Formats: sequence, structure tokens, C-alpha cells
Amino acid sequence: MKRDLSAHPTAILGAGPVGLAAAAHLAARGLPFLVFESGARIAEHFESTRHVALFSPWRYNIDKAARALLTAEGWLEPELDKLPTCGEVIDEYLRPLSQLPAIAPFVRLEHRVVHVARAGFDKLKTAGREHAPFLIRVTTADGTRDVLASAVIDATGTWSTPNPLGANGLPAEGEREHAAHFAYGMPDVLGTQRARYAGKRVLVAGAGHSAIGTLIALTKLAEEAQGTEVHWALRGHNFERILGGGSNDGLPARGALGARVKNLRDTGRLHVHADFKISAVRSGAHGFTIEGMKNESARYAVHDIEEVIVATGARPDFSLASELRVKLDPWIESTEALAPLIDPNVHSCGTVRPHGHRELAHPEKGYYALGAKSYGRATNFLMATGFEQARSVVAAIAGDMAAADDVQLELPETGVCSTQWSEDSSACCTKAAKVEPAPKSSCCGGPPVKRADACCVKDEVAKDSGASGCGCGPAKTRETGEKASTL
Ligand SMILES: Cc1cc2nc3c(=O)[nH]c(=O)nc-3n(C[C@H](O)[C@H](O)[C@H](O)COP(=O)(O)OP(=O)(O)OC[C@H]3O[C@@H](n4cnc5c(N)ncnc54)[C@H](O)[C@@H]3O)c2cc1C
Repeated sequence: MKRDLSAHPTAILGAGPVGLAAAAHLAARGLPFLVFESGARIAEHFESTRHVALFSPWRYNIDKAARALLTAEGWLEPELDKLPTCGEVIDEYLRPLSQLPAIAPFVRLEHRVVHVARAGFDKLKTAGREHAPFLIRVTTADGTRDVLASAVIDATGTWSTPNPLGANGLPAEGEREHAAHFAYGMPDVLGTQRARYAGKRVLVAGAGHSAIGTLIALTKLAEEAQGTEVHWALRGHNFERILGGGSNDGLPARGALGARVKNLRDTGRLHVHADFKISAVRSGAHGFTIEGMKNESARYAVHDIEEVIVATGARPDFSLASELRVKLDPWIESTEALAPLIDPNVHSCGTVRPHGHRELAHPEKGYYALGAKSYGRATNFLMATGFEQARSVVAAIAGDMAAADDVQLELPETGVCSTQWSEDSSACCTKAAKVEPAPKSSCCGGPPVKRADACCVKDEVAKDSGASGCGCGPAKTRETGEKASTL
């Protein structure tokens, strides 16, 4: 017998920007929901980087359904072109959103979700499975309890599970033993953590925006606190890609980050250790030594380091869904449909073609991982992507498939679209460069396409006409990260 799943709320795991956006969409549709947040406050991950200035201005950081609910309650929108800090996003947008009468009664703080299963069905059992409600197991100060849900939106992000220092994806030898001198992500080196880093020899590992932001802050600290020395360890050497698109970046603040760190490198204020694959951390007479291989072959070491900041990205933790039928791309750890669109081995545009409930669906009907978690280990996730994911998935949960399939997303590009390698920086791909100037956001972004193997409209048109594509899709293969033959 079919059970009435509408008797149960949709469970939203995580009250970050995307979890709360999903709550707004469910509230707008009058559907029941519960938000489970492990922290004592909403947006606990953003709280941990309260000091960080975002590179996306307000216009990209506010969900449409959330805006409508807030405005109806007299909320005044921030200035859309201003760049907020993570703290301002909480204070001026997320907290007011979480306090709305349509949302506040359904938010459960200090409720950590530890498992999700199908009530009465282990992972193996198939018959009748999709008619069973989900069982959400939460731990609270009062113990553990189970809550039933009709659908699950997992927006728990990735910040709780940062990548380690070791180049092979495992903790470097000695990393755990020296944990007291290791920080992960973006510690507030100019604020609350100032005393820890002032006057020290600090090594920052990583090549993304978090690493760059921390390097900029540390060099400022070095100007103020004598003896502060800043070392930058990178696994790669492609500075063009690492430093970003500069003035070509659709988000000027993101482009400026790269330009600032380039200047610091060129003026000798950073000790750069490129092509350095770290494998071990050993105690020394003054601090410790970071060891590894340089240029694949030569042993290399940086001595007398006193503090390490690991900014090598993060990875999703799907252990809470281990009793669900979750299917992930083998290395991105996103859904299989999303992986080719965001794989950093072949993409660096910072944009993604519009995608929604179909690309985010797992074999476990009704379970969706959204937000930063949807990208798995891939970088370049923007809140705006998560808002559109939430809109589409909530529409699918509501059974409004026309709205669910009508995905729209236009994101600012980084200005370093690695899928192209064309001479013409305005073109989305080599062919576009030869034929005509590419329209803005034409590589991977732009209007939705129907073909799963097409990354933009131009690519789809080319593939529909029997060609191998417009050039932006197959320029590099996911398996090798090398250029593919287009013959
Ligand atoms: C340094 C840095 C700068 C960034 N700058 C930008 C920017 O400028 N613009 C932009 O759009 N994006 C930016 N991002 C990306 C940004 O992280 C995401 O856009 C945003 O945080 C994603 O929101 P989310 O809701 O998916 O996940 P998160 O913000 O990570 O929220 C996840 C929530 O889930 C909770 N949670 C975790 N585990 C559990 C559990 N088991 N049970 C219950 N709750 C749980 C957490 O406490 C947290 O509140 C930046 C990221 C970093 C690291």
C-alpha cells in the first residue's frame, strides 16, 4: 500500500545560505519543512569566516524566494553592488530570513544529522522503497532521536571536512602530530587569530581563493608585526590559471584577488614554493620542516616553519547518507550528471550551465544534495548556483515539473576559461574565436541546453548537426585532463 508522504515535512539538513533558500522556496509554496542545523546558530560555516569579504556582490547573494518573503515583512535590501563580508551576509540577510514567521518555527538549532535512511528499508531492499518516508537521525543535547521526512535536501556544505596537507589527498606524515600548529580554511589572521601568527614564519598551502585571501592578509600582518614571514606552497605552477582572470573576471573583486597576490609575489613579499608536493612534516630545532618533492623528481624542504594554514579545499561527507542509494562521480563526488560540467581538470570558467533537479537526482528518489555539497570536491561554487538548485528541486518536490525543468542561471565567469585555450580571450572556444566573437557567458553558462553532453548552446547546436561540438566541451578530456583530439 502506498503511504501518504505529504504527511511528513521535507527535511533540510543545514541552515547555510542554500539550506535557508530551500526553506524559503518551501515556505513560499506552503509546503511543510524542518531545518536541522548542527550549530548553535544558523550558517555556522559562514560564522567561522565572518571576517572574510566575499567577492560576489549582494546581487548574487540573495535568493529570489527569500527576497520576496523578507520584503513582505518590511526588510530593506542591501545595496546590490556592494561586497559584503560573510558576517554581513548573516547579519543583514540570513538571520533576518531565519527569523521570519514563515521559517523560524521550523528551524532546529543544535540538531546534528548523523544518518539518513528509508524508514523500514535498509539499503539493499528495493520493493516499495520509494513509498517509505525518510528517517532522519539527529543528535541533540538531550540525546538522539529519529524524525520522518517525505524528502531530504542535504545542504550541509563541505567546510566541516577540509582537505589535508598531503598532496596525495591523505594527511601528510606528521600532520596530525603537529595539529596544534595547523589551521584549515581561512583563520582570521588580522583579527581574532592575530597573536597566533604575528612575528611567525607561516606557510600557507593551496591555490584557491581561500589561500590567496589568507596570503594577502598575512602580508598585511607582516607589514605591521616584525618577523612575520609568509611562505606559499602550491602543488602546481600554472600561475596564469591560479592568479585568475584579473580584469576579465565577471566578479571584479575575485579578479582583483589574483592581481594583488601577483603583485606580492613579484615584489618578493611572498616566499613561493611552486610545484611542491608535500608529503611530511617533521620537528626541527626551530619549528618544523615541511618536506616533499619539487618538480616531480627532486626532494625539497622548507625549514623553520612555525604555523601552517591548509587551504587546499574541502570534500563532501556522504557518511550520513550511507544507507541511501547515492551515486557519485568517482573523483568529483558530485552527481554523475553534474561532474562533467564542473570538473576543475577541464573547467575554470567559474560558471556552470543551468542545472536543476534532474542533474541533482540520485537513485534514492527524494534525496538531493544541494549547495556547496552538490559540487563535491570541485571548487568555484557560488551561492547563486545553489539558489537556483533549491528553486528547481523544491518545485520537483512540489510536483510542479514545468517550474522544476525551467532552470535559469547566469553566473559571472572567472575570465580564465580553461576549456578554451583559444588565442582570443573573448571567445568561448577555439572555433568560436575563428568564426565570431563569443557572446558573454557563452562557455558553460548561458541559457539551458537539453543535451547532457553539451556545455553551452553553441556546443549543442554543433553536436545536433553531427559535429563533435563547438570546441569548448571536448577541448580537454576529464579522464586525462589533456587536450582531446577534435578530429
Ligand atoms: C573563503 C570562501 C569564500 C567564498 N566566497 C564566496 C563568494 O564570494 N560568493 C559565493 O557565492 N560563494 C562564496 N563561497 C562559497 C560559499 O561557501 C558558498 O557559496 C556557501 O557557503 C554555500 O552555502 P551552503 O548552504 O551550500 O553551505 P554552507 O555555507 O557550508 O552551510 C552548511 C550548513 O550546514 C550545517 N551542517 C553541516 N553538517 C551538518 C549536519 N550533519 N547536520 C546539520 N547541519 C549541518 C553547517 O553548520 C552549516 O550551517 C566562498 C567559500 C569560501 C570557503
